[in-house]
Amino acid sequence: MADVKPVKAHCNKCFQETNHDLLHRDVIKGNEYYDGSYELQWSDTNEMIRCRGCDSVRLRNTYWFSEWDGAKVTYYPPSSSRRPPTWLDDVPEDEKTLLEEVYAALHADSLRLALMGARAACESLIIDKVGDQGDFKRGLDALCEKRWINDEERVFLQQAIDAGSAAIHRGFKGSHEDVTHVLDIVESLYQRVYVLPKATAELGKRVPRRPLRKSTSTPPAP
Ligand SMILES: [Zn+2]
Repeated sequence: MADVKPVKAHCNKCFQETNHDLLHRDVIKGNEYYDGSYELQWSDTNEMIRCRGCDSVRLRNTYWFSEWDGAKVTYYPPSSSRRPPTWLDDVPEDEKTLLEEVYAALHADSLRLALMGARAACESLIIDKVGDQGDFKRGLDALCEKRWINDEERVFLQQAIDAGSAAIHRGFKGSHEDVTHVLDIVESLYQRVYVLPKATAELGKRVPRRPLRKSTSTPPAP
């Protein structure tokens, strides 16, 4: 039976901190004496919680150690602070998984990982659409030649890829704003390549055609 007092936690569906019901809690505690007199203590708490707003269920692990400042809290599945686009399910599975891992890295404040993941997402799309071209320059050239992107979008993409390369090779950490900007670019590319062509074709089938306009000119005399 759920506790009456709610648990405050981030919800991946409501995208904010919400009240959760605590469905189950399991606590393991331990201690050990160091040098025969100095006591070390720890606790490992696992909780199943359910959002009162959307009913989604998550697991929360809280590990506390007496020598640390504060406890380490981990959620399963990981927390996400950027709302995934509504069209994410229309993206191929490998690329979708990559983007989801980028969102998880962003929420965990692993900004370098998020930038690296966004770069990997660009690379995966390039290989999927125009094959492995050997490097990003040739890959972007091929995307342009096949008209998946135009010259302006190529500039944006190059910027996103450069940020990821800098994170890998030059220790660039970036800010939340940087990662948000890069993800805006990558999501725009994904939507353009994977979502809009199909959505536009389906819309074209559903929209009634305009009736042919009747000619108002006077027919020629027989
Ligand atoms: Zn919720």
